[in-house]
Amino acid sequence: MASSAHPAHTLAVWYQKHQRRLPWRQTRDPYAIWVSETMLQQTRVDTVRLYYPAFLQRFPTVQHLAAASETEVLKAWEGLGYYRRARHLHAAARQVVACHHGCIPADPVQFRALPGVGPYTAGAVMSIAFDLPVPAVDGNVLRVTARWLGLAETAASPRLRRQAEALAAAWLREVRPSLLTQALMELGATVCTPRQPRCSECPLRPGCQAAAAGRAEAFPLPVAPRVRPHVWVGALWIETPLGVVVQRRPERGLLARLWQLPNIEGEPDEVPDARRRFDLLQTLWQQVWGAGCVPQPADWDCCAADRHEFTHRTWTVEVYRCSRQESLACLDPDKYEVYPRDCLTELTWPRVYQRLLAQLLRL
Ligand code: SF4
Repeated sequence: MASSAHPAHTLAVWYQKHQRRLPWRQTRDPYAIWVSETMLQQTRVDTVRLYYPAFLQRFPTVQHLAAASETEVLKAWEGLGYYRRARHLHAAARQVVACHHGCIPADPVQFRALPGVGPYTAGAVMSIAFDLPVPAVDGNVLRVTARWLGLAETAASPRLRRQAEALAAAWLREVRPSLLTQALMELGATVCTPRQPRCSECPLRPGCQAAAAGRAEAFPLPVAPRVRPHVWVGALWIETPLGVVVQRRPERGLLARLWQLPNIEGEPDEVPDARRRFDLLQTLWQQVWGAGCVPQPADWDCCAADRHEFTHRTWTVEVYRCSRQESLACLDPDKYEVYPRDCLTELTWPRVYQRLLAQLLRL
């Protein structure tokens, strides 16, 4: 077969003509590419487009990122969600400065040893920034592979992943790695989409098994939808002359170390009725203020509400004000802080609390 007819070549030619102009494609700086690939995991391109330039302006080099405090990094990341990525990126930047003289290692083994760097990120940065033939297999590449080979596997199947890595490795030998990696991702994102793939416009159409069978959308096989428990969360908006009562989330786990309002959760999938909600709020009130006179149902007023879907659960957060006033002297300083109302947005909040704050600060 003539080299020009190899599907990898056809794909690369298509990419050079049809690629979207994205800010992270205007650079070969491995740090900037690493930041973009980290942001793009589990976050849509349109959202990353909004945050990426500001993040790089704030931390233009790996040295700037390493020198920043975690609070500064999380604040710059606010709105992108999945804050573990930011913490890992920050820790990895510090390691690059401490152990690699501030240079991103152009070696997949060394790069993968950094915190938070998995096989996909390593493949993307090594191939796009350094033109090394390291496969980068994300959901887009899995889908294109399943369809190209007509593989009846789910996207979670280890066999499909192995096939995708083998396909990418073979095609990386044909075309400059930076081109091939981005072309495969772009094809999956814009043409070989999960629904209604545009096979008639696809450069891989001539050799594609799924398209030949007229069953492109059937691959990869669907997975059973994840059961996502719904959790009711009752939070307190307590304004005092000195500010609003806030607390930090625990050191580990979901949204670790971000700020929130004092809150209490119902049982998974429980839909608490009015009586149960007030019982939970009274329990929370006692946790915040200790023993004392607890408010009655008539004292509570729901002043803001929002819903947030995580990958593994859904929260409905309702924020309540209480007309009762207590003495700040009862607050446990290890658990709660009072923060000036005008400065609340300086803290780093989970997205659902950002939206709630927008409502609450209008009160
Ligand atoms: S021909 Fe269709 S199914 Fe095959 S890779 Fe292209 S868009 Fe995907």
